[in-house]
Amino acid sequence: MSLGLAIANLLIWLGRTQWQEKYNAHDLVIEVWAVGIWVKQAGLISYKTLAEWIKYVAQLKASVLGVQRKGDRLYLVQGSQQSWYAVINQGNYWECECMLYRCRRKRIRKEMPQLYQSLNQQIGVRLRKLP
Ligand SMILES: [Zn+2]
Repeated sequence: MSLGLAIANLLIWLGRTQWQEKYNAHDLVIEVWAVGIWVKQAGLISYKTLAEWIKYVAQLKASVLGVQRKGDRLYLVQGSQQSWYAVINQGNYWECECMLYRCRRKRIRKEMPQLYQSLNQQIGVRLRKLP
C-alpha cells in the first residue's frame, strides 16, 4: 500500500474527508514534521493519532489470525509468509519474530522517534482472542 493511500484511509477513519471533494489519495502531499504528519490537503495528523491508527489496523489484522498457545509466554500466530510465527508476551507488549515487526521496531525508533514515543515505545500489538 502506498503512503498516500494509507494516509487517505487514516483521514477517512478520522472523518476528515473534505479533501476528497477535490483530490484523490494519490494527490496527497505528505511531509513528516516534528509534531506529526502534515498533509497539505487535510492538515496535521499528530503522532498520537497515527499511533492509535497503527494499533487499530494491527488489531484488526491480528483478530482474524489463528493462535496456538505453546507456553507460559509463547504463542504461535498464523501468518502469510510462513504458516506460523512465534509471538512472545513480554508483559505489557507482544514481540513477534517476523520481519515486519523487526523492521518496524528498528526503523520507527530511529526515523520517527516521536511516533515511537506515542506508541509507548511498543511496536507489538495486543491480540484480542487468546486460547
Ligand atoms: Zn509479526
